[in-house]
Amino acid sequence: MVSCAWRNSLVPLALILLITAAVGFGMGKVGWSLPPLVGRIIVVDPGHGGIDGGTHDQQGLLEKNLNLEIAHWLRRSLKEAGAFVVLTREGDHELSYLSNKYKSRHRRDLNSRVLITEKSRADLLLSIHINAAGNSAHRGSIIFFQPDSTESKSLALLIQEELSKIGPHHTRSPLAGRVYYILRNSEATAVLLELGFITNQEEKKLLSDPQYQQAIARAITAAVIRHFTHK
Ligand SMILES: [Zn+2]
Repeated sequence: MVSCAWRNSLVPLALILLITAAVGFGMGKVGWSLPPLVGRIIVVDPGHGGIDGGTHDQQGLLEKNLNLEIAHWLRRSLKEAGAFVVLTREGDHELSYLSNKYKSRHRRDLNSRVLITEKSRADLLLSIHINAAGNSAHRGSIIFFQPDSTESKSLALLIQEELSKIGPHHTRSPLAGRVYYILRNSEATAVLLELGFITNQEEKKLLSDPQYQQAIARAITAAVIRHFTHK
């Protein structure tokens, strides 16, 4: 009988605790809202890889490695915002083996990145690159969008706007990327991000710095959140 009475008094106590906790969380500042990118599938594509080093500086620093480092930070940042993230490559290799559509290895490599995006049923494809120029004074990012996609263009504008908060050199207006295979062929909304110039001494240092890489990743993530939440 004693244990039964105990049980009877525990039930209302548990109920009171449960309600208190629910009200506390629900009414408090923490709230129950989901991270902003929950349900979104995003493909992050570190350009080049393996025998394709991409562009390079005079000392042999290769674009492909910077692309991969930034892509890893971007994956982390997008995941923290709730997105499901697929990387087209995890390591230093190219991707032509996944496609048999073209004779050219380079074309097959690019086609594979589009195929991965299709198979992932991705909402977005973000292709990460670093630029180079004969004139070492050139610096800053250039975001390329799909010529016939208003979604892609508005995302490119948001990314450029967020990157401009990192430093004064990210001021170039986004451009239509007509020459880029993955922009022309991706069904998903896609942008190609040239995140700076490896041929500019100061920018090369920044692009190799993990803190700067993280700042770039966070800026891109902020733009992606704005893209999906229309803020
Ligand atoms: Zn590239």
